[in-house]
Amino acid sequence: MRLKDRVAIVTGSARGIGESIANRFAEEGAKIVINGIDLPAAQAVAERLTKEGKQAIALKADVSVKTEVQAMVKAAVDKFGRVDILVNNAGMSVVGASQDLEEAVWRKGIDVMLTGAFLCCQAAGKEMIKQRFGKIVNIASINGIGAYPERACYCSAKAGVIALTKVLACEWAHYNINVNAVAPGAVETDMVKNLVAFGILPKDEVVRRTPMGRMASTLEIADTVVFLVSEESRFIEGQTIAVDGGWTAYEYLESWLDKARQKD
Ligand code: NAD
Repeated sequence: MRLKDRVAIVTGSARGIGESIANRFAEEGAKIVINGIDLPAAQAVAERLTKEGKQAIALKADVSVKTEVQAMVKAAVDKFGRVDILVNNAGMSVVGASQDLEEAVWRKGIDVMLTGAFLCCQAAGKEMIKQRFGKIVNIASINGIGAYPERACYCSAKAGVIALTKVLACEWAHYNINVNAVAPGAVETDMVKNLVAFGILPKDEVVRRTPMGRMASTLEIADTVVFLVSEESRFIEGQTIAVDGGWTAYEYLESWLDKARQKD
């Protein structure tokens, strides 16, 4: 019970990585706000957790809309009395050749993944500053570290999230607030399954290029987030931890990995 009675908001937590983070937080004793744009889906997760004896509520908010974010944080404080943990997980895939990418598509991706993370940090951060305690984890991506063709919006948003993490960490460290980020590699979620199904993400090649030879599970991302919001990580500030099976560490030929695996 590393998070006993901590109050946590996890954005975009009705499915995928966010749901897994919410599950792990609840197992560790936290009270959880399940957030999403689809209220029934968020309610289904909150109800399941409640049936399991955990404390959870569902709050609808589009993270890119300031008034909705402020209302979500207020409702969390009204219900649970405080906000100790914020995980900015809400996100979406944005893929397209840069020369043809619609401005509206670009703006939507930046609005949700970068501006949304900022608005949530701002609203929850005010509570954390009052409390002189807080833990924020932003879900970035390895796409915010390296360049991925036809993902200019997604890469820019996630690189922005990594920069935001560093700035807020430095601004708020003296309030006893830790701000860090996790940069997952490819994770087996609906988002990735759809990209694979539509031929946008070549799963076999991704697995081949990953030193650990597979994609991540949502639990592997969630376990890292639990560490970053727990007492054990109290002196980690402004960092981005890649949870990618070695992807960002590896810069050599794929054929070397093939040969190394054949020797096994
Ligand atoms: P997902 O699509 O399964 O879940 C994303 C959730 O965010 C959904 O529930 C969606 O409804 C919600 N959401 C979208 N827009 C929102 C908004 N405006 N306000 C509130 N909620 C909103 O995706 P996932 O794979 O679980 O990804 C979660 C996060 O992890 C995202 O930020 C994504 O960019 C990041 N990530 C995923 C992978 C991967 O391989 N799956 C890799 C690296 C980073």
